[in-house]
Amino acid sequence: MFASSIFNDLVTKFHENKLAHAYLIETNNLDQALIDIKNFLKIINCPENYNNDCTKCNLCNLININNLPSIKVIEPDGTSIKKKDIIALKEDFSSRPLYSKYNVYIIKNADKLNASSANSMLKFIEEPTPGILGFFLTNNKDIIIDTIKSRCESYTVNYEYKTLQDSLNITNEQYQNYLNLIKNYLNYINTSKLITNKNIILKEYTERQDIENIFKIIYAIYYQSFLKVNHEPYDETLLNEFSLNENKNKIEQKLKIITKILTNMSYNVSIELILDKFVLEMRGLNE
Ligand SMILES: [Zn+2]
Repeated sequence: MFASSIFNDLVTKFHENKLAHAYLIETNNLDQALIDIKNFLKIINCPENYNNDCTKCNLCNLININNLPSIKVIEPDGTSIKKKDIIALKEDFSSRPLYSKYNVYIIKNADKLNASSANSMLKFIEEPTPGILGFFLTNNKDIIIDTIKSRCESYTVNYEYKTLQDSLNITNEQYQNYLNLIKNYLNYINTSKLITNKNIILKEYTERQDIENIFKIIYAIYYQSFLKVNHEPYDETLLNEFSLNENKNKIEQKLKIITKILTNMSYNVSIELILDKFVLEMRGLNE
């Protein structure tokens, strides 16, 4: 349920009524920590006995889409977290939440609180109000100001780096088979040969899960290429196998197409329809 077992401890503490009013979490993966915190909040709030992925209740759905008024995620606006955001937070949290157990603030990149916003933040943690729970997330707790650090309970949460193959939960053989197929497939799409492209995939795989995996890998190829053209660190092993030679604009547009395909996959749209659409839209960009 959690990528780090530390969040199981928090669930236990919640049941024992021993949650601190604020946590400082140092982590190598802020986004994953945020996902874990949201899952923690679903578990303690879900009226349907949350298990793994509750999509039944309104509360969990609102938490998923960041739309529950009692949960506020504050991120840097430019290079720092602005005082106005902290003041707005205080106003929002001046009354008890209507639908959830706590008002929860999550400060992502808490090291980016500037002096005045940090000062403004201190009131929350110096005189803790019952019913308010806070999380400060950072990559490096050494640069968090002492007054905040000393008033939070601290955790270090290190996530394991997962390879694409691990995250898809497939064997090396399966992974290599997918890669070979994808090479062939992308090649056909990028040349204008008029063939029924969907057969390239469908004659090898008919299970939805396989086709979804294939599109997740195609997404990764384009995403890593996007990082590469933006001069950011990227996965060289994957791109050694696929050099796209496309410009930034095209890669961005193709990423959008692939994202849409993955959404359609999750909505039970027919595979044949999805594959036809994919080829049409990708080719449309090549013309
Ligand atoms: Zn729920």
